[in-house]
Amino acid sequence: MTPAGRRILVVEDEAAISDAVAYALRTAGYQVETAADGDTGCRRACQEAWDLVLLDLTLPGMSGLDLFRELRRTHPTRPVIMVTSRADEVDRILGLELGADDYVTKPFSPRELTARVGAVLRRMSGSADAGSPPTRLAAGRLVLDTETREVKAAGTPVRLTRQEFDLLAVLMRHPARVFSRDELLDRIHDGDGVSTDRSVDACVKRIRRKLETAGGDPDLIETVYGAGYKLRAATGGEGA
Ligand code: CA
Repeated sequence: MTPAGRRILVVEDEAAISDAVAYALRTAGYQVETAADGDTGCRRACQEAWDLVLLDLTLPGMSGLDLFRELRRTHPTRPVIMVTSRADEVDRILGLELGADDYVTKPFSPRELTARVGAVLRRMSGSADAGSPPTRLAAGRLVLDTETREVKAAGTPVRLTRQEFDLLAVLMRHPARVFSRDELLDRIHDGDGVSTDRSVDACVKRIRRKLETAGGDPDLIETVYGAGYKLRAATGGEGA
């Protein structure tokens, strides 16, 4: 994957940092735009198309955390790298509450940042280089194809509804991330009828049952108490 044509929004109020970062990313081939306060950053991050948002946590106007929450609400899977000068914030950033894709702490080198950006984008695309096509997601013996919308557990087809498929696909695209019920709801809501947190729980329950029926692993989707759901960590060459 090449950086060419990939759009990155840099939300950072310190001009020297913003300039250095934008310069480094442009040199690497990315298209870069900048926003210098939280409100502008939020509007642009949520309303325009970006391949990745680089977000400073301390901003004038809307805070970086509020901006992040709003962005996750409107675009649950848009890659975000957080920038913070506080090491004690890191756990929170990466932890259950927020779930950023990566973070850098100040001071950082633009070169290091560019490498992180490249790594997150490669991870999001689902495949490093010319390997398996990114439409095919795998977890243990479960394979999901986002193009044909087929799911197979150990070779046995699993018949999922659109909602169930979409929910599973979100989790499989981001195997390390915990998704709140709200985030998942955003992804599976299709406008027919009332959806609540409980619809997400019910949907997960149905997926687990169907996986089990097909001979797959019903525990693949893990409940994270008080936070939501995530894909169970891959354990390498998984047996039965
Ligand atoms: Ca700042």
